[in-house]
Amino acid sequence: MGEVEKPVALVTGASRGIGRSIALALAAEGVRVAVNYVNSAAAAQDLVERITSQGGAAVAVQGDVSESAAVEAICQQTLETWGRLDLLVNNAGITRDTFLLRMKLEDWQAVINLNLNGVFLCTKVASKIMLKQRSGRILNITSVAGQMGNPGQANYSAAKAGVIGFTRTVAREFASRGITVNAIAPGFIATDMTEGLATAELLKAIPLGRLGKPEEVAGMARFLLTDPAAAYITGQVFNVDGGLVMA
Ligand code: NAP
Repeated sequence: MGEVEKPVALVTGASRGIGRSIALALAAEGVRVAVNYVNSAAAAQDLVERITSQGGAAVAVQGDVSESAAVEAICQQTLETWGRLDLLVNNAGITRDTFLLRMKLEDWQAVINLNLNGVFLCTKVASKIMLKQRSGRILNITSVAGQMGNPGQANYSAAKAGVIGFTRTVAREFASRGITVNAIAPGFIATDMTEGLATAELLKAIPLGRLGKPEEVAGMARFLLTDPAAAYITGQVFNVDGGLVMA
């Protein structure tokens, strides 16, 4: 990270939910934030205005991160705006839940394309910039589903487990180049993605007895991405899950 210049972050899927909270938490630390979204232009613009009204810097960057050309354009736009890229948060994700016997190839591919291939594409393009700068931090948002499995989520849990393997490998590849790579595994967080899921049965399975808040994931993200004390952490997966997974 530049000592004089404020660091620049790209947060994928930052228009809503966890990504939005991470963008806000980073902006509060003085980070300039590229707010990526695919459809929610108004929500992304809203977030940009909120950050700028609080004295921060942000820009909305449209693009589907499962598409190679779009990822190039997103990173290019970030570079054109601020001339650097220090932090990447691979957060964009979707679900297409159904039991395996009913899962169509399209359901499988849509989730793998965004939740796993999108992480590959963004990391490849962003890390090229970070390697030139000789510093950077990458954070991938995985899930407890990738650690413990979840009925109805064969596609999602496969992608999220893939993200964990990817995190560890890339962390090893970049360790000598000043770039750290970590992951957060959220449990059930109250966002559009989990709407209607908070049954009594689910809450009983969570030791802390409630869903998490996006800000609670963002707190860990802020530490890993901006705190000097996180410089010696790489290749790790941090659970923010109310105690759901205890390894
Ligand atoms: P969310 O509220 O549904 O928001 C998803 C975000 O991803 C939106 O900003 C959306 O943009 C963006 N997005 C979707 N498809 C995209 C694409 N092709 N290209 C770029 N952006 C795209 O989801 P969330 O709950 O915050 O989840 C965020 C991440 O955390 C995901 O990776 C998810 O798997 C993970 N996670 C969530 C939970 C949970 O309980 N919520 C638990 C574990 C892990 P638009 O607004 O433009 O559609």
